[in-house]
Amino acid sequence: MSGLEGYNAIVTGGGRGIGAAAGIALARAGAKVSLAARNETQVVEIAAEMRKEGLEAFAFRCDVTDPHQVRDLALSASEAMGRIDILINNAGTATSNPLSRITLAEWQHIMDVNVTGTFLCSQAVFEQMKERRWGRIVNVASIAGIEGDKYISAYTAAKHAVVGFTRAMAEEAKGTGVTFNAVCPGYVDTPLTDETIARIMHQTGRSWQESLSALLERAGQPRLIRAHEVADAVVELCMEAAGHTNGELVVLDGTDTP
Ligand code: NAD
Repeated sequence: MSGLEGYNAIVTGGGRGIGAAAGIALARAGAKVSLAARNETQVVEIAAEMRKEGLEAFAFRCDVTDPHQVRDLALSASEAMGRIDILINNAGTATSNPLSRITLAEWQHIMDVNVTGTFLCSQAVFEQMKERRWGRIVNVASIAGIEGDKYISAYTAAKHAVVGFTRAMAEEAKGTGVTFNAVCPGYVDTPLTDETIARIMHQTGRSWQESLSALLERAGQPRLIRAHEVADAVVELCMEAAGHTNGELVVLDGTDTP
């Protein structure tokens, strides 16, 4: 894919899983990419691999829940790349627990990473995008942002908030040249899903394969979605041609292929 030559992107949570795949896909489409994550080692490694491929990549440590670190990220990435045209709010985290077992700390952490992080990073780049009259902000939400399921109420509430934020900001951004959209995948083959499967194994004594099958059956998914499929949807929303796509949710549920 090409089409993003001359554009600069920040991807949060870019050290592994969907974020790393999105960073690589944006760079292969021609963009300069700054990967940011709480875990610096991972983003440094991914950026180094990308540079070996001839792609332009930078790595920054940033906890998206910390307003100071987010401000520093926006400054450092602007310095490294020139300016920010694209923001992928991908950093996220999930837990599963029945309501009675969700601690306040757990609830707040899920909200902080998924929702507050999305708010802070968007706020850090929106004004400069508006000034240039061009910008793409893509929020990585989830099917949990539009549906509910048991034992994931904190994550579901957080991703519904991300979807609500996307829709409200799409209205606020109308006519500015900046778009806000979201991707809403079902279960994706990433370390986050591996952790969910490990929890099911621990709680039920089932094997890895049995736990995965139970997870997919409950979600109505024939298979795990691949990270690069989500990345491709993200890249599509960043293209020049996607300028009229604003406030949309792109759902990926794995039902398109056997
Ligand atoms: P992952 O756990 O594999 O990777 C998450 C990345 O986010 C890591 O690089 C981690 O360092 C980073 N991160 C976590 N907390 C952070 C923080 N406070 N500040 C900065 N970075 C932080 O996750 P993934 O599966 O690739 O998920 C990425 C996004 O996609 C998340 O928002 C997740 O909710 C969403 N999502 C995942 C799935 C799935 O099945 N894996 C499905 C739908 C949506």
